[in-house]
Amino acid sequence: MSAESTATKTRRRARTRAFQAEVRQLLKLMIHSLYSHKEIFLRELISNASDACDRLRFEAISKPELLAPEPSNKNSELSIEVDFDADEGWVEISDNGIGMSEDEVVQQLGTIAKSGTSDFLARLSGDEQQNAQLIGQFGVGFYSSFIVASRVEVRTRRAGLSADAGVLWSSDGQGKFTVKAMARQRRGTSVRLYLKDEERQFAEAWHLRSLIQRYSDHIAFPVSLPSSADGNDGKKEGSGEAARDVVNTAQALWTRPKREIKPEEYREFYRHIARDNEDPLCYAHNQVEGRREYSSLLYVPRRAPFDLFNRESPRGVKLYVQRVFIMDDAEQFLPLYLRFARGVVDSKDLPLNVSRELLQQNDDVRAMRQALARRVLDMLDRLAGNDADGYRSFWKEFGRVFKEGVVEDPSNRERILALLRFATTASDNDEQEATLADYVKRKPADQKEIYYIAAATPAAARSSPQLEIFTKRGLEVLLLSDPIDEWMVGHLGTYEELRFRDVTRGALAVDELPGAAPVEVARNADAEDVAGLLQRMKSVLGEAVSDVRATARLTDSPSCLALAEHEMGVQMQRILRASGQELPDSKPALEINTGHALFKRLALREGDAGMFEDLTRLFHEQAMLTQGRELANPGDFVRRVNRLLEA
Ligand code: ADP
Repeated sequence: MSAESTATKTRRRARTRAFQAEVRQLLKLMIHSLYSHKEIFLRELISNASDACDRLRFEAISKPELLAPEPSNKNSELSIEVDFDADEGWVEISDNGIGMSEDEVVQQLGTIAKSGTSDFLARLSGDEQQNAQLIGQFGVGFYSSFIVASRVEVRTRRAGLSADAGVLWSSDGQGKFTVKAMARQRRGTSVRLYLKDEERQFAEAWHLRSLIQRYSDHIAFPVSLPSSADGNDGKKEGSGEAARDVVNTAQALWTRPKREIKPEEYREFYRHIARDNEDPLCYAHNQVEGRREYSSLLYVPRRAPFDLFNRESPRGVKLYVQRVFIMDDAEQFLPLYLRFARGVVDSKDLPLNVSRELLQQNDDVRAMRQALARRVLDMLDRLAGNDADGYRSFWKEFGRVFKEGVVEDPSNRERILALLRFATTASDNDEQEATLADYVKRKPADQKEIYYIAAATPAAARSSPQLEIFTKRGLEVLLLSDPIDEWMVGHLGTYEELRFRDVTRGALAVDELPGAAPVEVARNADAEDVAGLLQRMKSVLGEAVSDVRATARLTDSPSCLALAEHEMGVQMQRILRASGQELPDSKPALEINTGHALFKRLALREGDAGMFEDLTRLFHEQAMLTQGRELANPGDFVRRVNRLLEA
């Protein structure tokens, strides 16, 4: 036996492999039927077939021979064929696109390449409905075949490889798959699903036709069924070129006139490009003519992807040049803060061989990025104006990302500020719903600043002692609690000439606050010498504080901390420290409500040095805790409280 035939033989032997653990988990979830819409498998497979055609057309730009007609496939037009056999109970989706080599099959149909997958799967709760929603967000793709099939066979050959480089992949979705080399005359991929007994309705012509029209009409390649498909078993390999009927419009959706496109078509197209099972929140379709010609179709998803905050995760639009697919995730077309938007851009002017590097330096691309950013902002304006619930849900999902725009995109500053939403003391709930315009409308005419406070949660912000005087005066304060908020607000500058003012910063000149009559610093009859007591407190606390002073901003609490004007905010300090950065110790001023009973007690116990120190430290520790700071020595604090309770 020659060496070559041994090698061939080895290659043709079937090899069985296990799916990656994540795939096994996903398959299990799917097979236990999380889906109420089982028919989505067809959409997913046609979507994959369409991508495969797109990718071949792209590779053929530099290697036109890849698109050459083949002996068994004279029609070199890229297309997708759906066949079925009602008696045998299978349905098959074929494309003459890019195909896969053996290595690619093993890699792509045995693993999940998305980063963060195991984290994602770990979040699944066991609650079917919630999981179904999460999975929809994740995108199930090829693996959705196993929702309806008890066995799946994939026959494929990569474009450009010879006929003996075909591969047969098969699996029953139970943890393992088998790969075997085979001869395959056609390039591209056929995915055949042997349907479970109860899913055999998917091998019926009328059903397939209506599903393709409903879910895949927007696919830019012809999707066909065998002619007179009703009753026909549609077998095609070996039986020559049987007549076929194209069942979809087969035209790139974004190239069609807007008035002819139905909302469902826009929605289905979104599901295809975003691999999202849900409808988008809103979309905008534009065809731009003039010096730069391009079309864009942009969407805002309803839900944030599981990896929104992963800096490495893919983002950006699908780029086409003159209707030829060029690349996924072209991030150069949208600023980072709008990375949640999905969609397609089709340029008439860019060269077909454009690379990512070229995109980075191209002036046209830069101009398009600005225009597209404005389109997304337009879309959000409309959403905010017409659909309050929709905007609320946008803000919940993506507000934290959108806020980055305050810093990233000064050219759209006003528009971005108008789209921000805040939690505020004017409302009882902690949702971020108020606009800056609402705030300005509600504030007293003589108020020259926009007040805010930042804390770890809205509830913590709301219960801060620093708010007491504002609450008493009926002055509204914005409650910031997203990690990005202090950083963002530092860049807000002014809004309608009003400065943003952190209420925990500096010595508050209560007399100068707008609203009612001036308040006096409460006098305490028993404190003969308030200044002297404060001085003594300062010497007890030493370096921990920059000052101890009386304040009128507290009405209920005994004490609070005030940051220096230019000191970094407490939340920001916390985030930076958590990320391992070394920061100088914060030295805020301790402010005392000298009218408080606790201060009275301090004055009375002036002679007892131990008691005086305990009480002083308690003023400080309380103020630290209400500001969400950590105590250097919690054990000491607890012992001190207990001593005082027993005293
Ligand atoms: P996704 O399409 O979201 O990447 P899938 O699980 O649907 O995920 O598919 C995994 C990979 O398998 C695809 O990224 C692609 O590389 C490959 N693939 C799937 N179907 C085809 C096909 N018809 N032709 C070529 N490659 C395919």
